[in-house]
Amino acid sequence: MSQTPEDPLSGFVIAVDGPSGSGKSSVSKQVARSLGYGYLDTGAMYRALTWWCLHEGVDLTDADAITAAAQSFPLSIGTDPDAPTVEVGGTDVAGAIRETGISTSVSAVATVIPVREILRVLQRRLISEAAAATGGVVAEGRDITTVVAPDAPVRILLTASEEARLARRSTELHGAADADAVAATRSQIVDRDKADSAVSEFTVAADGVTTIDTSHLDFEGSVEAVLQVVEAARA
Ligand code: C5P
Repeated sequence: MSQTPEDPLSGFVIAVDGPSGSGKSSVSKQVARSLGYGYLDTGAMYRALTWWCLHEGVDLTDADAITAAAQSFPLSIGTDPDAPTVEVGGTDVAGAIRETGISTSVSAVATVIPVREILRVLQRRLISEAAAATGGVVAEGRDITTVVAPDAPVRILLTASEEARLARRSTELHGAADADAVAATRSQIVDRDKADSAVSEFTVAADGVTTIDTSHLDFEGSVEAVLQVVEAARA
């Protein structure tokens, strides 16, 4: 799964991986803000590619067609944590890529191996550009600590119990974490992570990766825990 990176990363790179609902996007964004660094949401890239495939009428069971779409993917993604824009061919898709139709289709795109290599190369370039512009970057996803930036000086796996992750995502999607809302969220979280785990290991930390369990931490506590790991690495 992991590959030797061709160019060294520039700047101070903080790689964060984790399953759905671990809090990695909101925590990573806040860590980037507090350090004055860039922020790269690699999940948004897979989501935007899924949007592009559906827009182009690509059959999501056809790996070759998905790969061809990835090769001509007109993505523009912003790395300012206060304005993380996502555009495809000039269309703002930041809202559209969060819709359920994308969440339920994205694994079909993300599990095509040649697509992962195309996005890995693009992600390393975006990480280096963002880090060169601000001094550092927080890049988050499923395979950043292992495949995209295994050479990052800080690598963190954010985890949380399934119960905590379901409750968080359920509150986000349905405004509640009662039994019905959690049941409606379960397939989005559990099924997607299961499909994604076929190509990435994001539940167990690789060698040299620090695990932070956020099950019993609130948002501020999770941010603080990441900042402490960053401080320790700097020291
Ligand atoms: O993080 P988020 O839930 O937005 O990611 C959406 C999807 O993108 C994941 O379910 C996974 O299929 C894919 N992904 C990936 N590798 C990454 C980041 C996201 O395969 N580094």
